[in-house]
Amino acid sequence: MLPERIEDWTERTIVCFGAHPDDDLHAAGTFARLVAAGNRVHLVMYTNDDKGSRDRSMTGTRLRQIRQAEQATAAHALGIAAEQLHWMGHGDGELEYVDRRQLCREATAVLRRLRPDAVFSFDPGARFEQWHKSDHRSAAQNTADAIRAARWHLYFPELLDEGLEPHEVAVCFFFESHEPDYFVDIAATIEQKIEAFCSHVSQFGRRLHRYEPELHPDDRTAFERDIRGYCAHVGEPHGLAFAEAFRRLPDP
Ligand SMILES: [Zn+2]
Repeated sequence: MLPERIEDWTERTIVCFGAHPDDDLHAAGTFARLVAAGNRVHLVMYTNDDKGSRDRSMTGTRLRQIRQAEQATAAHALGIAAEQLHWMGHGDGELEYVDRRQLCREATAVLRRLRPDAVFSFDPGARFEQWHKSDHRSAAQNTADAIRAARWHLYFPELLDEGLEPHEVAVCFFFESHEPDYFVDIAATIEQKIEAFCSHVSQFGRRLHRYEPELHPDDRTAFERDIRGYCAHVGEPHGLAFAEAFRRLPDP
């Protein structure tokens, strides 16, 4: 029997589906808590994030390598090992153009292989997803569809031949939601969340425009202030110093 609050879980498996490396930052403090409590957290990235730079000397191939290294550093800050990172390998900004059946089959296979108790992803019901990055919209909807497909043996029957038996995900936690109803106290892990964020050097502040391997010190100071401020804002109505917010969907 799963404890009602995920903060009380131990020895469970959690999978996060992000469109890009760094999307999991929405739940980084929660993941660091879960890892510290003895759970296994896997991060799945639908795309390689090989287009997110304004540095005109950057190439997609180089950026893909940088993003993989940055994600490994960020995951390490949360206690997540490199072998718990799973790259689906699609092109940044092109997730909507991937064959829908193939994309759902790929995510269904991941779910049946890793067999998570909980899945984290973008909220497929958020208004935000109607206009923001198409990859986020695709990741949200595809993950929801795959959770359903994973539980029925007649969906993608070819997966049975690979030994991938049906699997039921017990609970989902959606981030970037307009209807958050579940708040996790991350006071103990806010430093790890900041460290993970600052690992994505190529994406934020000055290095987005002119890449260098180290964050500019002024950017780091600003990011620390902003992350603390935002997480304090989320936690304040609930009496928490720092929090992350989710829409929880039991029995999805
Ligand atoms: Zn993203």
